[in-house]
Amino acid sequence: MTLIPYDDRDGYIWMDGKMLPWRDAKLHVLSHGLHYGGSVFEGERMYDGKIFKLEEHSDRLIKSAALLDFAISFTATEISEATNEVAAANGMTNAYMRPLAWRGPEVMGVSALLCRTRVAVACWEWPAYFSGDVLERGISLITSSWRRPHPQTMPVQSKACGLYMIGTMAKQAAERAGYHDALMLDYKGRVAEATGANMFLIKGGVIYTPHPECFLNGITRQTVIELARSLGYEVVETDIMPEDLPSFEEIFVTGTAAEITAIGKIDQHEFPVGPVTRRLREAYGAMVRS
Ligand code: PMP
Repeated sequence: MTLIPYDDRDGYIWMDGKMLPWRDAKLHVLSHGLHYGGSVFEGERMYDGKIFKLEEHSDRLIKSAALLDFAISFTATEISEATNEVAAANGMTNAYMRPLAWRGPEVMGVSALLCRTRVAVACWEWPAYFSGDVLERGISLITSSWRRPHPQTMPVQSKACGLYMIGTMAKQAAERAGYHDALMLDYKGRVAEATGANMFLIKGGVIYTPHPECFLNGITRQTVIELARSLGYEVVETDIMPEDLPSFEEIFVTGTAAEITAIGKIDQHEFPVGPVTRRLREAYGAMVRS
């Protein structure tokens, strides 16, 4: 597979208030955020010229930074405007949007009180996360040995880059074992989420989803809960243990990138892509383009 590195592409990236040629959007190696994990990001999708839940994502970027005890020097409205400007500068109407904020190079000690915050927004084309056969059969997950941490161990409601360190290790192990993604349990051993998507499980027509106590309460998760309720489904937030998994009839994950993706297999247990998943997948597809 030929990889086109992300620092060597054509286009424009918005950085600290300026629209820069793609290859000029650089940061210094002595940036605090790079050394100590002080960085947060967003993942958004533009469908037919409109970014789905843009304001919610811009707000979450600012909240994610606040949870890491740093302030972003732009308002949520300014970040939303910049995000739309980046899509326009790159001539894109269907794209994945990536705002990022990090602590700058002003200080190199652990305390970063004197650091300035830097912000960038990029976008690129993102084809369907999974397509064809995989979509029809569902993706496979293998349980990771890594766990989602206790809420007092990490700022779990922040979309903090540092939290993805575990996700990368879990997903790499899953791919090496021939699976698409990892199932993350939490510090109590409960079913938590996939590495970049929340989980929903169906039994007897009722939709269950784990409490987002120690992982991101995704914007798609919140949207799908509302959507399912508006379609008449009962949605219950509850604890789910791994040994309960075989008793579910359908399982799917939700996320900005994953949208609604069916799960076909978790470890050795197989699940069909059932009618509730299909109905919600269709309704969500219509909603993001409405
Ligand atoms: N959990 C994790 C770890 C994620 O990275 C994501 C993707 N942002 C989600 C859940 C789903 O969040 P959202 O629906 O807001 O994209």
